[in-house]
Amino acid sequence: MKIILASPRGFCAGVVMAIEALDRALDLCGEPLYVYHEIVHNRPVVESFRRRGVVFVDDLRDVPEGSHLLYSAHGVAPAIRQHSKERGLHAIDATCPLVVKVHLEAVRFAREGYQIFLIGHEGHDEVIGTMGQAPGCIHLVQNEADVERLSLPADAKVAYLTQTTLSVDDATVIINSLKRRYPQITGPSRSDICYATQNRQEAVKELSPEVDLVLVLGSRNSSNSLRLAEIAEICGKPAHLIDGAEEMDDLWFAGIETVLVTAGASASDLVVQECVRHLEARFGATVETRTIRNENVSFPLPKELREMASDASNLHDTNQR
Ligand code: SF4
Repeated sequence: MKIILASPRGFCAGVVMAIEALDRALDLCGEPLYVYHEIVHNRPVVESFRRRGVVFVDDLRDVPEGSHLLYSAHGVAPAIRQHSKERGLHAIDATCPLVVKVHLEAVRFAREGYQIFLIGHEGHDEVIGTMGQAPGCIHLVQNEADVERLSLPADAKVAYLTQTTLSVDDATVIINSLKRRYPQITGPSRSDICYATQNRQEAVKELSPEVDLVLVLGSRNSSNSLRLAEIAEICGKPAHLIDGAEEMDDLWFAGIETVLVTAGASASDLVVQECVRHLEARFGATVETRTIRNENVSFPLPKELREMASDASNLHDTNQR
């Protein structure tokens, strides 16, 4: 068996920053430390932090007043920030800057009087946070049928935005459908679908034709990971979306000569390497890494943490004197 290891794969810059932020916040603030929603949509990552005393909540009423609360990479609506302030919580904002970009676009379009169509998946944390930036002005559009049902007049002042983790091809179909109904529609100056989503999808598209089966490491609630498995299937290859090697079934590999292994933007390379080791041990697999694009993106830690770290270091210096 041959394994083709897709590159880039796994953690994106936003996820690296959010995980480092939580790690650093645990050091600086101690436990219990609260996180609004899952820090990233990945079960092994969330469970490892839970074991270290992090409490993930979906409702701010579950956070005791005065506690430290970290916002996940997916971002939150302004109403959540306000509620958190009213409860006297110390917020640390680990929203990915590329999600913040979409939030700012929503605020700008709303201020300029646009009705906004947000292309995304209902109920996703990022979509809830983005819709909350301009309540009353944003309409969720999930597919072409939703576009058909839109009731705004043909000459309405309209704009579109997208969730950052969509399938580029699916989003293009919906955007084209919006453009047919509203030729005057405007959009973001640069695609909202982030570099990490695009690169991981491109790698699957480019490499799938060479393999018999695709393994995607990632959780089922990860939009990014789900899209990779869907793209492999669209390319005509069977695909399995798994959290780790323990979910692999040897029967999947009967008669399989070449396997593409990749990972969604929230899945750690540790689980990828576990799967590779499993295939090496069970099937004598050899590994070839194929890089379709180099990534060189990083984001700074949230400013609240940088300030806390600086205060702690000043205190330490004073005590030393
Ligand atoms: Fe940011 Fe893209 Fe990663 Fe989401 S997938 S956290 S938008 S870099």
